[in-house]
Amino acid sequence: MILLYGADTANVIKEEIESMKKSLNGYTPTLGIVRIGANPADLSYEKGAIKKMESLSLNTKVFEFDESISSDEFLDEFKKINADKNIDGILLFRPLPKHIDEKKVIDALDEKKDLDGISYKNIAKIFAGEKEGFAPCTAKAVMKIIESNNIELEGKNVVVVGRSMVIGKPVAMMALSKNATVTICHSKTKNLKEVCKNADVLIVAVGRAKMINEEYIGDNAIVIDVGINFVDGKLCGDVDLSNVVNAAMATPVPKGVGAVTTSVLAEHLVIAAKNKS
Ligand code: NAP
Repeated sequence: MILLYGADTANVIKEEIESMKKSLNGYTPTLGIVRIGANPADLSYEKGAIKKMESLSLNTKVFEFDESISSDEFLDEFKKINADKNIDGILLFRPLPKHIDEKKVIDALDEKKDLDGISYKNIAKIFAGEKEGFAPCTAKAVMKIIESNNIELEGKNVVVVGRSMVIGKPVAMMALSKNATVTICHSKTKNLKEVCKNADVLIVAVGRAKMINEEYIGDNAIVIDVGINFVDGKLCGDVDLSNVVNAAMATPVPKGVGAVTTSVLAEHLVIAAKNKS
């Protein structure tokens, strides 16, 4: 079984970014990270994102708000960040605290600055199969791994386990636009093992540690594990590869999809800056 390391895909994206940056005539794009509170998972992702931007000579500005901020106040602040000409793209950590009207905030976000594909306009573009528009970074990272490893999807059975708006649904739509035959599974799916076993490409985003094992994986399958779970303080995916012998390729966790997500964010930032000029 070949392990598909995210770093290899990240290197391909890095080259694409360096090439796109040439058309910016020396302009350095700035990512605006908007965060309410200090959730450890958000802080960890933020740290990785800042490091990635630095490694690509891209700027980051963090806008941090106290959880006590009111919904109206936050909306006003968010609108100012959105209108700031020096901010080329925005990453908004969600879910927002319950008292903040998330829909109003998302509606206020310019889709051209919406690097993580949360606005309805971007979602619609991805679902319509348009090439333009920003997909959620993790969903796009899955597609980048597939593309950079020359995995052809046309005519293949792609099974996606998970139907969230950040991963399952958008990744299914992107696979469909590559002419795959796509099945989306979720917690109410019957015969999950059989459905998964029939997959040429199995994309797993359930958020359940090591749920998918050898009983779900067919011969020569390609397995992409999006899961991020912690068991006894140790990071693991949604797939348990320890007894899998028949798969052709699989992404490990750590060092798989997670290593590509911030590269996609950086690529989206450069595209946003390029579209502005
Ligand atoms: P989510 O919103 O909780 O969605 C989970 C999906 O899995 C739901 O559609 C749910 O079905 C389905 N599901 C749950 N239990 C199931 C079961 N027993 N059988 C079949 N389907 C089941 O999660 P998410 O935000 O999509 O995230 C998924 C995973 O990706 C998490 O581990 C998360 O930490 C990880 N993640 C990774 C990255 C990265 O950069 N690698 C980024 C973001 C998230 P229902 O719809 O029926 O409830």
